[in-house]
Amino acid sequence: MTRSPVWHPFTQHGLEEPIPLVTRAEGAILHTADGRRVVDAISSWWVTTHGHCHPRIVAAIAEQAGKLDQLIFAGWTHEPGDRLARELVDLLGLPYVFYSDSGSTSVEVALKMALGFWANRGEPRHRILVLEHSYHGDTIGAMSVGARGVFNRAYAPLLFDVGTIPFPAAGAEQATLDALERACRAEAPAAFIVEPLVLGAGGMLMYGAATLAEMRRICAAHGVLFIADEVMTGWGRTGTLFACEQAGVRPDLMCLSKGLTGGAIPLAATLATREIFDAHLSQDRARMFYHSSSYTANPIACAAALANLAVWREEPVAERIAALVERQAEGLARLAAVPGIAQPRQCGTIIALDYAGSGAGYLSDLGPRLLAFFRERDLLVRPLGNTAYVMPPYCIAAEDLARVHAALAEAAAL
Ligand SMILES: *Cc1c(COP(=O)(O)O)cnc(C)c1O
Repeated sequence: MTRSPVWHPFTQHGLEEPIPLVTRAEGAILHTADGRRVVDAISSWWVTTHGHCHPRIVAAIAEQAGKLDQLIFAGWTHEPGDRLARELVDLLGLPYVFYSDSGSTSVEVALKMALGFWANRGEPRHRILVLEHSYHGDTIGAMSVGARGVFNRAYAPLLFDVGTIPFPAAGAEQATLDALERACRAEAPAAFIVEPLVLGAGGMLMYGAATLAEMRRICAAHGVLFIADEVMTGWGRTGTLFACEQAGVRPDLMCLSKGLTGGAIPLAATLATREIFDAHLSQDRARMFYHSSSYTANPIACAAALANLAVWREEPVAERIAALVERQAEGLARLAAVPGIAQPRQCGTIIALDYAGSGAGYLSDLGPRLLAFFRERDLLVRPLGNTAYVMPPYCIAAEDLARVHAALAEAAAL
């Protein structure tokens, strides 16, 4: 076969590592063209929640595709988009829903809404506060509010300056809260953006609900908008439907994507308070929210999201999650005893650990060796540097999960 012209994301083609060809998937299993059965232990990059090709979501996509495939959403509307917005509002208690099509764009929208809020009030603010080690996407704005590193060094001069609040490591939470309080007072920031409870791409770093609640309280006390990026943590990953629930936090802006459609098709939503919507509400066209993408609220994607919500309502998803949380805890307890494994940690359905002793960092040579190790065992596990994590679809079979845990233990000897 001739070499594929596909340029893959986060792939160094010069290393010529094998790129498996997947032909179909069901539940937590991927089937490859060469007949392998691969366990998807990372939910195909954190998107698949109820399992691949969930029949109800597949049916909703097929039905909507035959009815209304796409529609301009500026000045026009459709039933799946309207109904989904109503259901999200009921679920989240934020009254306005703005659609886009990826986690990165949902973050761009939240940042623009925050800046628009301040501009339209006649008190322009542009400073954004972020949490150390955070990740919010790969567009220029989303990269700007994320950690700097090898991922974005080439673009660094284009990234805007932000205020970085130290990560609330266990035992050092007060330093985070103090730094946030100081920054809110001294820098008149427009907004603070956080990944609630788990910083995903930054290394599956976890912190407690009490800290999240306190960070939200500090922002509210200083009138700084609080943006919760639940793109990864949403839709059950942390054990509850949304991570903010565990802290009793209602943000000013909330970003959703990944599991919004059960992981079947791209869609994102940014939810906003009445105050932020009202700051853009006027007879003056210059104050409208200037953002759109061609596929805003694509009806097929909205129908998939409605089916996802129906699955949450009508299937025993909470029970599946509870069972997964328990199995992950048992697996993690065994992994914690393995020499060479450090920092075992869990938040809901996600477990993570670090392989100690190796060169840390995303480019450590352990990364490719781990990738090859898991690939040879027909497991889709994709470590972040020397951090391995398991974030499977909620339907993963107990024996498949046990195989993943066993491989994680075995990899400590690499
Ligand atoms: C994945 C992710 C994003 C970016 O989402 P894309 O759909 O890949 O653009 C943003 N924020 C968080 C917390 C994420 O995990």
